[in-house]
This record gives sequence, structure tokens and C-alpha cells, in this order.
Amino acid sequence: QVTDTLAKESPSSPSYDWFQTDSLVTIVIYTKQKDINLDSVIVDHRDDSFRAETVIKDYSYLVHVALSHEIQEDFSVLVVENVGKIEIVLKKKENTSWKRLGHPQENHNSIIPKKDTGLFYRKCQLVSKEDVTHDTKLFCLMLPPSTHLQVPVGQHVYLKLPITGTEIVKPYTPVSDSLFSEFKEPVLPNNIYIYFLIKIYPAGFFTPELDHLQIGDYVSVSNPEGNFIISQLQELEDLFLLAAGTGFTPMVKVLNYALTNIPSLRKVKLMFFNKTEDDIIWRSQLEKLAFKDKRFEVEFVLSVPTSEWSGKQGYISPALLSEFLKRSSDTSKVLICLCGPTPFTEQGMKMLHDLNFSKDEIHSFTA
Ligand code: FAD
Ligand code: NAD
Repeated sequence: QVTDTLAKESPSSPSYDWFQTDSLVTIVIYTKQKDINLDSVIVDHRDDSFRAETVIKDYSYLVHVALSHEIQEDFSVLVVENVGKIEIVLKKKENTSWKRLGHPQENHNSIIPKKDTGLFYRKCQLVSKEDVTHDTKLFCLMLPPSTHLQVPVGQHVYLKLPITGTEIVKPYTPVSDSLFSEFKEPVLPNNIYIYFLIKIYPAGFFTPELDHLQIGDYVSVSNPEGNFIISQLQELEDLFLLAAGTGFTPMVKVLNYALTNIPSLRKVKLMFFNKTEDDIIWRSQLEKLAFKDKRFEVEFVLSVPTSEWSGKQGYISPALLSEFLKRSSDTSKVLICLCGPTPFTEQGMKMLHDLNFSKDEIHSFTA
């Protein structure tokens, strides 16, 4: 039986409590942390199982119970940021008084290292699929109403599909639906759509299956993962983004977030490496953004250009980087983000170290 005792691990361990009215049950999670927001908690309700995972740094605190009574499918999640309190408001199916919240399930009321929680999946419906380039598509998935999940900036999720009888998973990085849509005031809480830019490889294992999904079909989506921390952007003056191919995907939210939420920001420069002009994802949006926002610049570099291409060419190189990575002042706070095929990222990292950028000034996106 669920009791309302504090978790025992440490004095600052989170705890939870619950109370009810005739029609509602409110579960309150006291995280005892200040930097909590709507990204911090992932809630899933399936049959009678209720699971709320609160992510606190490298740990997860779980409220995981088999509810004692039935509830309606949708619920609301509220966060009181300054006191680190999370409220999950469930709607009872019947207006009866509950004697207890439910029976504890695995890891209920405990705080465990995030790496030990395993990936938790929920089925999402494919809502739309649009061509972006000749081989890359924008997929829109809809979360079920019984889930609250927001993917933090710089993080990825795993998509899972059954392929010839085996469940296959691959990581993908959610983006906004366009470069202009997100972080405009007011930010919409509890967004139920997740967008992905995904390149379909005809000889690939997973992406052709994804491409064969019809609107209305389901794909499982995991909890977010990743080691990018938004505080890396605080007080930043120069942000440099080095992206190759679909390595552009983590840059989308980083770029949007930085331009909207970092007042100290002076410059954001994207160097976008692709094989050909046809491969450039969202080229016209990038050019429009550079026109609209003078802090943003974009440069395209092609490794297999046609003879008409008058822009930069080749792979990532020290010469390209040293010309591109000009700080707006000697002391400006910079961050360089890097993402693409493994050789691109590895060579880029080495070049950046050779150019005397410190570890704190570089973030590479990997699995
Ligand atoms: P695979 O079967 O892995 O094949 C990919 C390509 O390699 C194909 O052209 C295939 O023919 C070729 N290939 C396979 N095996 C070999 C071999 N032995 N020798 C030579 N060639 C071979 N991708 C996106 O499109 N969007 C994203 O947002 C995104 N986010 C990611 C986030 C993370 C953290 C990581 C690690 C990867 C991300 N990826 C993303 C890549 C994605 O996870 C998959 O790797 C990609 O979709 C390819 O999957 P696939 O199974 O279709 O192809
Ligand atoms: P692509 O084959 O179209 O290549 C894009 C550019 O990458 C090339 O024009 C070139 O400049 C550079 N490049 C390719 N091979 C290189 C090499 N051997 N050395 C140096 N530079 C090289 O790329 P794609 O098919 O779009 O693949 C994108 C890659 O990014 C995938 O491997 C994917 O897994 C990875 N990715 C990783 C993350 C992440 O880790 N968070 C997110 C998204 C994509």
C-alpha cells in the first residue's frame, strides 16, 4: 500500500503527497530543487498504471503506482518553479472518495540513477509526413493524451518499431515544426506534437520502415536522453554551430532557444556541411532567418558541389574553422556545438582543440 512517507535516500530526496476533492486527485511532487520546469517530469498513465518520472540532474525520482480507482485519460501538469513543486491533477471517473492512491509498482517513491531507469516508451501516432529535401522528411508524431512529455533542448529520444518480428530502436532528435515557430511568446505548455527531420536511407534498416508508416500508424517514443544542458547557453555571447547533414537536427532547438532566451547573445553562426545543394535542409528558412535576425549568419559548405557552386567547398578543415570561428571580442563567452557523421565530429573536435578552444567551449552531440 502507498504511504506518504518521505523517500529515505538523503535529506534532499524528493517526496510526494496526494489529496483529493470529489472529482480530482492531485499528486504533488516536492523536488526540493529550483531548476525544475515542465521538461522535468514525464507522466504516463496506462490502464491502471500511473508513472511519473521526475528528472533531477542525473537521477530520476519515480512515483509509480497501480491506481486504486479509475481515472479519465487526460490530466494536467503544473510546475511551481521557484519552490520546485510539481502538481499532477487527475480526473476521477467516479466521484467516490479514495482511501489510498494505489499499490506501489517497481521503484515507486525512490530516486535512482537515470542510467538505471531503462527506456520507457509510449505509442505515438503519425500525424503528418512532409518532404523537406529529396531524401529527408519532417515527421509529426502525436503523444497520447495519457502522456506528458516535453523533450528538452539538445536532447534526443529513441523511436521503436517492430521489424520482422524484432523491436528495433534508433535515436532521433526532435526539432520545431519550423525555424520560426517555437519559443514565440506565449510558449505553449503541454505541447502534444513532436517533430522530427529524418533522412531516409533506401538501403538502411530502420528509416525505410519509418517511411512506410501511414498517417494514423503508431511508433513508440522513449523518454528523452542526452547530455546537453541548457545552462551551457547562459550568458553566452557567441554561439557557433557546426552541423553536417542531419547533424543539423540538434541545432534547430539550440538556435531557436538561444535567439529567444539569451539576452547576452551577440552572434549565432551556423556552418552547415552537406554533399550537394539539394541536401541542404531548410535552406530557405535559414536564409530568411539570417535576413530577419542580424545576429544570425549561415554559411553552406558542400563536399560534392556542382561546377556552378560559388560557395565554400570540402570537408571540415582547420582553414575553414579558423576563418569562421571569430569571437566578437577577445573575452567573449563562446560555445561551439558540433554534430554530424562520426568522422566529421571526431575530426572537428580535434581541430577545435588544436585551435585552443577549451572543453567547456565545445559541445558535441552523440548518442
Ligand atoms: P542504417 O541501416 O544504419 O544505414 C545507414 C546508411 O549506412 C545506409 O545508407 C546504409 O546503406 C549504410 N550502411 C549500413 N551499414 C553499412 C556498412 N556496414 N557499410 C557501409 N554502409 C553501410 N537521423 C536523422 O535522420 N534525424 C535525426 O534527428 C537523428 N538524430 C540522431 C540522434 C542521435 C543521438 C544519433 C546517434 C543519431 C541520430 N540520427 C538521426 C541517425 C539515426 O539514429 C540513424 O542512424 C539513421 O536514421 C540511419 O538508420 P537506418 O537504420 O535507416 O540506416
Ligand atoms: P551526409 O553523408 O549527407 O554528409 C554530410 C556532410 O558530412 C558531408 O557533406 C561532409 O561535409 C561531412 N562528412 C561526411 N563524411 C565525412 C567524413 N568521412 N569526414 C569528414 N566529414 C564528413 O550525412 P548524413 O547522411 O546526413 O549523416 C548525418 C550523420 O549525423 C549520421 O551519421 C547521424 O547518425 C548523425 N547524427 C547524429 C546526431 C547526434 O549524435 N545527436 C544527430 C543527428 C544526426
